[in-house]
Amino acid sequence: MPGPVFDRIAIIGAGLIGSSLALAAREFRAAKTVVLYDSSEDVRKRAAALELGDVADTLETACSGADCVILCVPVGAIGETSKALAAYLKEGAILTDVGSVKERALEAMLEQCPAGVHLIPGHPIAGTEKSGPEAGFATLFRKAWHILTPLPQQEEPYNSAVDRLASFWEMLGARVEIMEAARHDRVLAITSHLPHLIAYNIVSTAYDMESVGEGEVVKYSAGGFRDFTRIAASDPTMWRDVFLNNKDAVLETLGRFSEDLAALQRAIRWGDGEMLMQEFERARGIRKAIIEAGQDTDETNFGRNKDGEKD
Ligand code: NAP
Repeated sequence: MPGPVFDRIAIIGAGLIGSSLALAAREFRAAKTVVLYDSSEDVRKRAAALELGDVADTLETACSGADCVILCVPVGAIGETSKALAAYLKEGAILTDVGSVKERALEAMLEQCPAGVHLIPGHPIAGTEKSGPEAGFATLFRKAWHILTPLPQQEEPYNSAVDRLASFWEMLGARVEIMEAARHDRVLAITSHLPHLIAYNIVSTAYDMESVGEGEVVKYSAGGFRDFTRIAASDPTMWRDVFLNNKDAVLETLGRFSEDLAALQRAIRWGDGEMLMQEFERARGIRKAIIEAGQDTDETNFGRNKDGEKD
């Protein structure tokens, strides 16, 4: 088994992703020393109680001497966090992040990144609707894609730094893909950002409808609604920042989505069953492809325990 990729990593932001990273880096021996820092004193105390790693009281203590600093803060906080820690980064260190939007994260870090530090943005396509240090678990990244969006046309020693960071994520069980930041943002707009926007919207529409007051939406939620509520339970700060920072790609995708929705609306109005069948069968095919690609379970009802369910 290969030895740790890094002697010392600093994880800034000890929420779901930061705490999972700390647990995984230790469990899979990807780093010898794991140091965490969070701007919230309360989160720092909880991270220490959970024994996620060495919890530092200041950014300086966390980042000094680190071979790799990983920003696990909301996308909107990446710029100010990079600025606050830039002075503590050592020559040859890697500065990376896990932000769900890559172009704006890259710009924000690039502005602050000192010469001699390798800036390699990244995004793990893994997560849950939970937040905070208690939500983390070591296997979160297993079999998940980790997208790295390195700076274009670089030479040594930058390229070796990219390889080292890729090896680190692979040790945590992830599959690494290299992509251009703008392309990442366009792809994620449709696979992640739009589904979250739709979930937030459908939950808020249902909430506004009268029947919610009588408890009927909650009572009959197994009809499909509850799967949207799980997505809509995701961290509001994180998602506010995603939409504000991937505005163009999200708006473009939303425009296309609205046109397709209008076509379905027309088919329902005019009783065009053939069109509806065509669309629904195509959607089934995409679900099959996702299962075949190992991206989800084929178990009925997402593998929920049938005995415990009232469908
Ligand atoms: P989270 O559970 O809410 O954790 C974020 C943590 O960062 C919180 O403890 C927060 O403290 C702290 N923080 C905020 N600003 C900070 C700053 N300036 N300096 C240090 N700490 C700061 O969120 P998360 O789900 O781990 O998300 C973190 C990042 O991962 C985001 O960029 C997100 O886009 C990305 N991501 C998330 C998922 C997912 O499914 N959740 C998946 C992939 C990538 P306070 O609570 O006190 O604000």
